[in-house]
Amino acid sequence: MNPSRIAERVRRIKPSPSTSAADRANELRRQGKSIVNLVVGEPDFNTPEHIRRAAAAAMDAGATRYTLMAGTVELRQAIAAKLERENGLTYALSEIIATNGAKSAIYSALAATLQSGDEVIIPAPYWVSYPDMVLANDGVPVTVPCPEANGFKITPAQLAAAITPRTRWLLLNSPSNPTGASYTVAEYRALAEVLAAHPQVLVMTDDIYEHIRFDGERTPHLLNAAPELRDRTLAINGVSKTYAMTGWRIGWAAGPRDLILALDTLLSQSAGNCCSISQAAAAAALNGDQGFVAESVIVYKQRRDATLARINAIPGLSCRSPDGAFYLYINCAGLIGKTTPEGKVLVQDGDVVMYLLEKEGVAVVAGTAYGLSPYFRLSIATSIEILEEGCTRIARAVAALR
Ligand code: PLP
Repeated sequence: MNPSRIAERVRRIKPSPSTSAADRANELRRQGKSIVNLVVGEPDFNTPEHIRRAAAAAMDAGATRYTLMAGTVELRQAIAAKLERENGLTYALSEIIATNGAKSAIYSALAATLQSGDEVIIPAPYWVSYPDMVLANDGVPVTVPCPEANGFKITPAQLAAAITPRTRWLLLNSPSNPTGASYTVAEYRALAEVLAAHPQVLVMTDDIYEHIRFDGERTPHLLNAAPELRDRTLAINGVSKTYAMTGWRIGWAAGPRDLILALDTLLSQSAGNCCSISQAAAAAALNGDQGFVAESVIVYKQRRDATLARINAIPGLSCRSPDGAFYLYINCAGLIGKTTPEGKVLVQDGDVVMYLLEKEGVAVVAGTAYGLSPYFRLSIATSIEILEEGCTRIARAVAALR
């Protein structure tokens, strides 16, 4: 690569670490090694049939052309109805924009609002893409370590200490990737009390794992606890995780009209509208039978319970039970300082992850990628048999340490 012809804004970011881990696992598999891949961040189910059928019907009916930039009226009506029905939030169609996945909504919102040097508060552990998205848009990621003892959540005192006159956004993700931690109404209320004194701070809520909950609770929204923040909150969500539709690329942002208009303008000159056929499928997902959601959550919960028990029985590892999403964020402090049979000392979580991969072929992602160490993330979006095999191999690898 000739670095001088690549823009500085691209040179300051890195490819997704979960993609790199998956690449290494695939390379070892090609070399003939048996690999248990616990890296994936997407449902292992197929998209439900009624949604696939709606896409086919849309194609046959000629929904194969450009749509309105913000998304079809049908899709935005379905999103507005969903926000009303499931979240008790009322949005006009002009306050909603459909995007190419939630990822594009978050990226575009940052691109549309950040001036060079603006700060974005990101509680850590965080989804790997947040800091790089901020950097790519000339912003400054301000990561706030949120230890396990605080449930991996930002406290009001930490938020107050992190806010400066340059703060543009607070980014919240509940339930969280990678920890599964979710905020309660009371916790949101306490954060809102801090925000009251800083009207320049916008809030982005990444609600993509809203429906993947194990405790039977509904995921509260920040705006349920603090309706006064509506004019400075951008609510991000999508169909990827809830309906096993990661490949269809439909997400959205709902928020104040000026922000939505800015997104519309930016996207109209870059990506354009999102796929017309996927939009029809997403509308069918939101308007149709919701049985799949409940059924898949039961399966995720069985996997979480089984895997959590296995991991917590391994000396040196421990894991807090996630409220939602489909990951375990496993504390491996007990392995740091131990020596592998090959004589290598495990100094940080990256060493633990590399050891598990090379020794037993188990692929997971190091906590360094998520901004809080020493941990590793294990995805439960795979079959119970694969999870059992993964746990057996992890236990064997750990037992071989001295
Ligand atoms: N937000 C979080 C926290 C995620 O984990 C992911 C996907 O891994 C996304 C957003 C992206 O979702 P989408 O597929 O809709 O772009």
